[in-house]
Amino acid sequence: MADSNGHAGHVHDKRPDWDSYFMQIAHVVKLRANCSRRMVAAVIVKDKRIISTGYNGTPRGVRNCFEGSCGRCSGHAPSGSGLDECICSHAEENAITQSAYHGISTKGATMYVTLNPCLTCAKMIINAGIKEVIYDEEYRFSDQTKALLAEGGVVCRKFTGTRLEIHFPEE
Ligand SMILES: [Zn+2]
Ligand SMILES: [Zn+2]
Repeated sequence: MADSNGHAGHVHDKRPDWDSYFMQIAHVVKLRANCSRRMVAAVIVKDKRIISTGYNGTPRGVRNCFEGSCGRCSGHAPSGSGLDECICSHAEENAITQSAYHGISTKGATMYVTLNPCLTCAKMIINAGIKEVIYDEEYRFSDQTKALLAEGGVVCRKFTGTRLEIHFPEE
């Protein structure tokens, strides 16, 4: 039996929902991260279409962080410290600047990110006109960052869809 939309009612849709679809893609993008400390990726979506992706690491043309080019990351700075000396860009920052590089507007877009944004990225997200952020893992997500996103009109919610763990293939 087909319903009013012409769909067979008894057929179960096994495809991932949109949140899971974009978040799983973000976890694949993450594999390109070149930071030796942590791997994060962001995917910017507009009208269910990916307009930009980003992963964390050193700026364009600069030697990879894992090759030792970032003194902060390759040093012994405790997690969360020495960030003003870190030359790695965050995934959100790279996804937004990648859009600028190609002249694609991020106004009204949605961002999927494998880790919650930091305060600096939250500011960029607001000013890039991104209206919704869906994050997967949570790490030091400060009340200040949450409040700023809310006041800046960005809906921020934790991912609850199907998680796909992707790892580098064994050498
Ligand atoms: Zn780094
Ligand atoms: Zn950030």
